[in-house]
Amino acid sequence: MFTRLLRRYADLSYNKLVTNLTSTPKAKPSDLTKVPFGTVFTDHMIEADWCEDKGWSEPVIKPYQKIPLDPSSSVFHYCTECYEGFKVYSNPPHILSFRPMTNMERFVISADAAGLPKCSPHELLKCIDELIRIDKDWVPQVPGYTLYVRPNMFGTHAQLSVTKPKKAKLVVIMSLVGPYFPSGYKPVSLYCDESLIRSWPGGHGHRKIGGNYGPAIVPAEKVKNLGYDNILWLSEGYVTEVGVMNFFVLFKNKNGLELVTSPIHHTVLPGITRDSVIQIIHEWGEVKMSERNFTIKELITKLEEENVVEAFGSGTAAVICPINKLAYKGKEYNIPTVQGNCGELTKRIFDELTKIQYGKVKHKWNHYIA
Ligand SMILES: *Cc1c(COP(=O)(O)O)cnc(C)c1O
Repeated sequence: MFTRLLRRYADLSYNKLVTNLTSTPKAKPSDLTKVPFGTVFTDHMIEADWCEDKGWSEPVIKPYQKIPLDPSSSVFHYCTECYEGFKVYSNPPHILSFRPMTNMERFVISADAAGLPKCSPHELLKCIDELIRIDKDWVPQVPGYTLYVRPNMFGTHAQLSVTKPKKAKLVVIMSLVGPYFPSGYKPVSLYCDESLIRSWPGGHGHRKIGGNYGPAIVPAEKVKNLGYDNILWLSEGYVTEVGVMNFFVLFKNKNGLELVTSPIHHTVLPGITRDSVIQIIHEWGEVKMSERNFTIKELITKLEEENVVEAFGSGTAAVICPINKLAYKGKEYNIPTVQGNCGELTKRIFDELTKIQYGKVKHKWNHYIA
């Protein structure tokens, strides 16, 4: 889905990959349920450096370690940074990931938007697959648990001018993650307010670059203190996303059901889970799938008419996250969760996606690593 923006760029090379394995592997946590998200990392990481006159260095797989950086590095001052996130699933004896090439392509586009160099998405994926094979014993075999892969690139140019960094570093780290809802599905409540803005027309909200995420932390905390789980983001009155997830709502219209999500433009991150949901809904052909602009006014009207059937967020971490409440302008609206904790379509989509992600069915989205 991103290929049309890519140019040939082949200097990050899997053939040049150097591996330097640890002689002191870490002990793996004995109780996965006690591991908070993104705190336990595997034994190895990838590191590659880029500089303007030489291009990419050879990528290196080495023991997970700290990175010495100059305090004047571009990333610390101007957030020349981008990242990705996808999961590795165990289906013994295999391990597999879900549409990872799409993540690689999105990463390259984000890098470009952050003033960072491009690299070949194919070569990067081959290096990452090798890292996963080396640390394959870290892929949890417990259902619901996965290995989360986090590619990350940042400007390391030691210079304070606001210009494209002439040096950059690429790292890939991997961390253990548990189920988003450890004790079963729990719907989340949303808070919506015109003054909370994450993205705007012509901006960079559609790129996974650090500058979109840091400034959203304080508003998210404020909303938590008000007793809500997540922000329903608006841009000029249009509903865009929920927290760091894409947003879907099922409307009951005169002539049937319509699952609606905002189109991408500049205000919505092109989620891979989002794209997968859209494709699945088209394939099922049961409800109308609409990628269209819709305002908070339309959403509130539909809620008042009791024509909202269900709503959910989509993203790699939660996969599908049911929503049961929306607060707007001092009023609280309930969103039905007919199965007690989520809607019927929400549950079916979650089951379908996780079945594919764990390789329970043969699917074109499966990427087998071992
Ligand atoms: C990463 C992200 C998503 C979800 O994308 P996936 O590819 O489905 O994980 C949605 N919205 C925002 C703002 C994101 O950063």
